[in-house]
Amino acid sequence: MLDLETLWQFIRDKFEQDFSPITFKTWIDTAKPLHFTGNIFVVEVASDLHKDYWEQSIIPQVTSLLSDTLGKKIKVLVKTVDEEDPLAPQEKPHSTEVSLDLMGNPKKSTPLNDKYTFKSFIVGKGNQLAHAAALAVAEEPGLMYNPLFFYGGVGLGKTHLMHAIGHQMLENNPNARVKYVTSESFANDFINSIKSKHQEEFRQEYRNVDLLLVDDIQFFSDKVGTQEEFFHTFNALYDDKKQIVLSSDRLPNEIPKLQQRLVSRFKWGLSVDITPPDLETRIAILRTKAEAEHIIVPDDTLSYIAGQIDSNIRELEGALMRVQAYAKLTQQPITTSLAAEALQSLNGAPQAKELSIAMIQDKVAKFYHVSVADLKGKKRVKNIVLPRQIAMYLSRELTDASLPKIGHEFGGKDHTTVIHAHEKIADALQSDETLKKDLATLKADLHS
Ligand code: ADP
Ligand code: MG
Repeated sequence: MLDLETLWQFIRDKFEQDFSPITFKTWIDTAKPLHFTGNIFVVEVASDLHKDYWEQSIIPQVTSLLSDTLGKKIKVLVKTVDEEDPLAPQEKPHSTEVSLDLMGNPKKSTPLNDKYTFKSFIVGKGNQLAHAAALAVAEEPGLMYNPLFFYGGVGLGKTHLMHAIGHQMLENNPNARVKYVTSESFANDFINSIKSKHQEEFRQEYRNVDLLLVDDIQFFSDKVGTQEEFFHTFNALYDDKKQIVLSSDRLPNEIPKLQQRLVSRFKWGLSVDITPPDLETRIAILRTKAEAEHIIVPDDTLSYIAGQIDSNIRELEGALMRVQAYAKLTQQPITTSLAAEALQSLNGAPQAKELSIAMIQDKVAKFYHVSVADLKGKKRVKNIVLPRQIAMYLSRELTDASLPKIGHEFGGKDHTTVIHAHEKIADALQSDETLKKDLATLKADLHS
């Protein structure tokens, strides 16, 4: 096992290169590594403010650095000096690998998040249908739209709405049985139930509910056994007139390798998409968030921040938290120019926004849930080949790098491989609507 000090030194070196000395001193020098157990890395930081900043800005970077370097998914947790150690040794023996879901969260039965309610959900053009359908389903479960299927890009409020339905139903009927899971947890529970011969308990757990919420159903793609089981779960609940709510980043028929009979069932109810919020909605979301967190932000500054980030509400919230952290750190009130400074110091100066092949690889890998190492590697399986070709395509389209240089950056491949990849994707774009959408999202993300 990699020793903690070596690992920490590796991380420090990396940030020492990337950060200004003051930033490094403030956020990295004050932190202390606690454990690296299985695939969880725990860091102790000095205060709540440090924790906020780590969560917003540093964890994502450390996570991908470690995951890429070690070739497995690593979860990074921070705690403040005052908080309990999430991996206190007496509870978690060193050898245990904590299983993670595909979104990188430790797998456990996920209770509803108190913050995700209808009350805290801002309705705007992009989400008003989804919101209305969610409310209808919460009030009349099993009657109106079954299943209710949300689809749309990352960070647009799908998970928030699902939790809100759960909360609302419990408020209307405290005895209601509500179960929220990610598709990954469902799959893991199912597989574990087979291994431990507890299939009956599994069925009881998933079929004796009034509301089943399954999030990010696109991860059912390829999981044949799980799809089979979910088919039966779905039928049992549906026949019982119990409400089913699903979410995905795309429409059912666009999920690769989803059984046709599931696709058709998912279309029985109502599918609603959530699209990115307009400026007005983004400002309203920021205002509510600022109020909830007791952050004082002038109106023009809210508009400024909302103007900076236009596609992802999670990032929008992250930007606000960055501005707040920056204001606290420099002991200044929040103003538009301070916000500009705070967001710039983190994004890098605007003129330095030249895209690198590494950035493209990083985004593409995250988007398709593969590792950068896979993109650079030689595996020929389909779910890696496509992202690899897309990353090559984008490297050719969006950077000035020569073909041999691109090949080199992809683990030393020949330039003809790059040409082939580029042609493949350019061809596919003629007819493949999903691919078109994916590429538009990726490009927007790369340019944001
Ligand atoms: P998704 O599941 O679509 O990726 P989430 O539901 O996780 O997105 O939303 C990302 C973040 O944005 C969450 O913190 C959520 O509370 C917030 N958010 C999304 N939509 C809204 C909204 N309409 N009003 C307020 N907050 C929102
Ligand atoms: Mg979600």
